[in-house]
Amino acid sequence: MIKWTRRSVLRRSAALSTVTFLSPVIGPAIVSGARAASSNPLFTLGVASGDPWPDSVVLWTRLARDPLDGGGMGDTPVAVNWEVAADEGFQRIVQKGTATARVEEAHSVHVEAGGLEPHRWYWYRFNAMGVESAVGRTRTAPALDASNDRLRLALACCQHYEHGHYTAYRHLAEEEFDLVLHVGDYIYEYRAKDDRPRRHNSAEVKTLDAYRNRYALYKLDPDLQAAHAAFPWAAVPDDHEVENDYANDIEEHGRQAPEDFLKRRAAAYKAYYEHLPFRRGARPNGPSMRLHRPLRFGKLASINMLDTRQYRTDQKCWAKWSPRCDAALDPLATMLGPDQESWLDTALTKSETHWDILVQQVPIVERGRMRDGQLMHHMDKWDGYVGARQRLFHSIQRRERGGLVALSGDVHENWVGSLKADFGDPGSSTLGTEFVGTSISSNGDGKDTKKSRQRMIEANPHLRFHNGQRGYARCEITADTWRTDCRVLPYVKKPGAPISTRASFVVDRKSNRLESA
Ligand code: FE
Ligand code: CA
Repeated sequence: MIKWTRRSVLRRSAALSTVTFLSPVIGPAIVSGARAASSNPLFTLGVASGDPWPDSVVLWTRLARDPLDGGGMGDTPVAVNWEVAADEGFQRIVQKGTATARVEEAHSVHVEAGGLEPHRWYWYRFNAMGVESAVGRTRTAPALDASNDRLRLALACCQHYEHGHYTAYRHLAEEEFDLVLHVGDYIYEYRAKDDRPRRHNSAEVKTLDAYRNRYALYKLDPDLQAAHAAFPWAAVPDDHEVENDYANDIEEHGRQAPEDFLKRRAAAYKAYYEHLPFRRGARPNGPSMRLHRPLRFGKLASINMLDTRQYRTDQKCWAKWSPRCDAALDPLATMLGPDQESWLDTALTKSETHWDILVQQVPIVERGRMRDGQLMHHMDKWDGYVGARQRLFHSIQRRERGGLVALSGDVHENWVGSLKADFGDPGSSTLGTEFVGTSISSNGDGKDTKKSRQRMIEANPHLRFHNGQRGYARCEITADTWRTDCRVLPYVKKPGAPISTRASFVVDRKSNRLESA
């Protein structure tokens, strides 16, 4: 097992005893409780918190005595007591209450704990049927008018269970973040396959019961539990929470009737909601789930959580790498759908924060690639939705200032680049910066930049960096500067890999200038 966790907890606990109340912005990583969570007889899936506001945060858990087989909680609701404390030892309990773990929500609870102070750490725990949960730590957002000087974000996605271990989350839990952003592929729907580092628990998941059991398999992982217990998260799903490369009501190959596929999507969204710390407003209604939402961190940053799957038009030309056919230029094609598009336009043009952050699934930046003498683009990404991207860029341009950063995932590689008004013209204005996060485990160990990727950087002057190893991105945002460190692991097929920073970048807010650090 990993040796440094305990040492680090002790070090942080010693620091805590003197500084908790004097300096509420400093807190220890809570990992001791989460490490034991898998052996908890009732709270087998750990605890989590999310979507922090200045005065409230969501607390999540799910009761599951038999997590891989339906939960084992029977057909009666269960009362779940919850407590929020200002200290790790729960000497100063500031809020408490009782929630109902409902049968129809797989005995999950989503508590919106209110009445909290802005911009400080809190600790929380649950108690049900005489059993106490692990302790989680969470953090509220600063007040809307606060001149907070720093925001620390982690960017994670794509955690195929069979492809490797969640060592990245173990390291992530040891760092200090205000918020963890997860941009999708929290589970993969695929059937179990042999000869991989770990194994899925069923055939391809298509029903509510199967999705629930698949989430339970993933959430039994102690490293994932530690990352949830250490920080609040804000998540949006991508395709694999439902099905590979789906678009709105169209399944991957378009072979299933939309009304049948929507039944699958409803089951998938429901299970997703049941396993993540969403506010009640996100509770799915049949196949619909309101995922796009704002988060605010004082005067420093506005975070726009976006959904590029639920409302998009179907992929054009061909869903993968393809020469761009005329349909990819279709001005009626959409990635966000009209309602979300206009919501985002308003959010961007009315924003008064230093930074506006787009948190979404698929890369926005153009990534052209020559193959067999033809220029190819990946049609599942914004490259396949050129008209929609121009509308997005128009909204960004209407801000008339710098400080626009997009965070995305999906491709299991790091990409760092500038968003250009015209990707074909290196002299056109730079509208913002995109950091594409690599995967936590998907595609196994991965490797550093391949020749083909190096050629893509040469052919796309707005691209600056590629990395094909696993890991996460660490972002530190201050009023004038954004810094991203690409944190990577040498391997994930075996547990225990060390972490290191593969590359670092800084962005100057006013000019959008992107440089290596
Ligand atoms: Fe993925
Ligand atoms: Ca994906």
